[in-house]
Amino acid sequence: MSSKTIPIISSCALLFAVSAPGQTTEICHVANAGFLVKGEKTSVLIDGLMIEDQYEGRFALPSQETQEQMMKRTNLYDNLSVVVATHLHGDHFDPKATVAHLRTNPTVNYVLPADTLSSLEANGLTQEEQSRITFAPDNTQSSYNFDGVTVEVYDIDHGPNMPQNNGYRISVDGKSVFHTGDINTTRDQLSGSGVNALAVDALLIPFWFGMNDNEQRATIDESWSYTRIVPTHFSAKPAAWMEQFGGFGKLKQAAAAAFDNAVIVANEGECTKL
Ligand SMILES: [Zn+2]
Repeated sequence: MSSKTIPIISSCALLFAVSAPGQTTEICHVANAGFLVKGEKTSVLIDGLMIEDQYEGRFALPSQETQEQMMKRTNLYDNLSVVVATHLHGDHFDPKATVAHLRTNPTVNYVLPADTLSSLEANGLTQEEQSRITFAPDNTQSSYNFDGVTVEVYDIDHGPNMPQNNGYRISVDGKSVFHTGDINTTRDQLSGSGVNALAVDALLIPFWFGMNDNEQRATIDESWSYTRIVPTHFSAKPAAWMEQFGGFGKLKQAAAAAFDNAVIVANEGECTKL
């Protein structure tokens, strides 16, 4: 062994030492805008608890296998402890699936927009189940701590005549992710909601926001201080509008190319380290 190999070995050892604790947080794709923030001992599901959508298959749903794993908290979902939904639209939130999850997982915490209550009641929500949900009020910045997880809620405008849309900054094991839900907003609205150069390891945002619009792009760059962008909300199957990008595959490429630091995590169960 030449003396020149020693620094290489020691730097590798250092690399392993650094990457062990606190570096195992991952984000994993579920379907559509659904993601799991997976830490070592705990994980958070965002907009992923879906069994059926309300849009005739236009948006991707988790496979049946993944639905079962989420319900029973097995495999990738073995340490799931918090479930959140950004807004009540049927491609982000499924009240039937949420009530079923509440019923079979008494130790899980839930954070939902306040206006989801009636749809949960229509699906048989009991008083006891309701007591296990944190309903985040509209137009209000709020913050909740669960064992090893911080959930901060910010109002993100979904656009005119749209429901309450919670943006979430979620911190697990020293890493943070911001999920915007759907977004159709301005720098002023975000600023008024407290979203000013918010530091995050990953910003999860619908692929169309900022892709071909410099003002939206500036809004993103001033509102978040992000290490990487993960585009969300890719459709389930090819659609006519995608032809302007040259098809579904090219659309993903265009979304990736729109930002210097975009990471595409769009296959079910695919994860990337933060
Ligand atoms: Zn929506």
